[in-house]
Amino acid sequence: MSDQNPTAKSILQDFPRMTSGDQFVFRCGRDLDCFTTCCHDVSIVLTPYDVLRLKKALGLDSSEFLERYTLPLLNAEQKFPLVILRMDPETKKCPFVSERGCGVYGDRPWACRMYPLGVATPKQATPADQPFHFVLREDLCHGHGCGGARSLGEWLSEQGVEEYEMMAAPFQEITLHEFWERGTALTPEQVAMFYMACYDLDRFRRFVFESRFLQLFEVDEARIEALRSDDEELLEFALLWLRFCIFGEKSMKMRGAVVEARRQAAAEPGTVVPQES
Ligand code: SF4
Ligand code: SF4
Repeated sequence: MSDQNPTAKSILQDFPRMTSGDQFVFRCGRDLDCFTTCCHDVSIVLTPYDVLRLKKALGLDSSEFLERYTLPLLNAEQKFPLVILRMDPETKKCPFVSERGCGVYGDRPWACRMYPLGVATPKQATPADQPFHFVLREDLCHGHGCGGARSLGEWLSEQGVEEYEMMAAPFQEITLHEFWERGTALTPEQVAMFYMACYDLDRFRRFVFESRFLQLFEVDEARIEALRSDDEELLEFALLWLRFCIFGEKSMKMRGAVVEARRQAAAEPGTVVPQES
């Protein structure tokens, strides 16, 4: 999993698009001389669902997980915060790798499940331009040509990719939202909201239950109960809140009294009204 990922242009030129039935010959195993080489010195961007799975597997609060195992990524080209898995600063190894292999195998990130496959996603999918998979062939990986042939569909199923892709879909919709094309930069407060909602889920839960959040928004009782303990439900809810706060969508409903107070404040400047965050 080199971080020398091909650009979108070179992917289209050099890597054949795969369909579900297309086969490739590949095997990964301890007996290969490259075993765990791919878990060194690599940039692995974590999706919110990756973070959720890893922090649960490790029994950590999301804040602690993020501090111990990730680095934030936000630069001039990056419009919203991402987090990457932090390699050991000296050995450059993934914090979860040992000579026995991946220590979080059942909850390994999406990118690790996919390797040696990549996926290219157009910003705006059309019938003629859909996301597609391709095979990455890197010198470090000696599994190509080993083992039997398997189809793309079989590989994705064996690696448990479908669940990860289903859970990642709402986040991917946010990252591909037309909002980012407008050139509007997030304020520091919005960056913090984005980071909390997507990655620091236990802190978002405290925000929901320990602030005035539930006085501002209408949330039905069954959902409130689920949010107390169900991380997947909480992530889905957090992303709806993000869409409300950043894109201005009607993905959340404010309580009538709050809406009325805001309406009056607009008519009478100087009135203090509740804020949603
Ligand atoms: S999470 Fe597991 S598979 Fe992924 S780089 Fe680390 S050790 Fe390797
Ligand atoms: S075969 Fe490829 S994926 Fe498997 S351990 Fe070797 S480098 Fe990693």
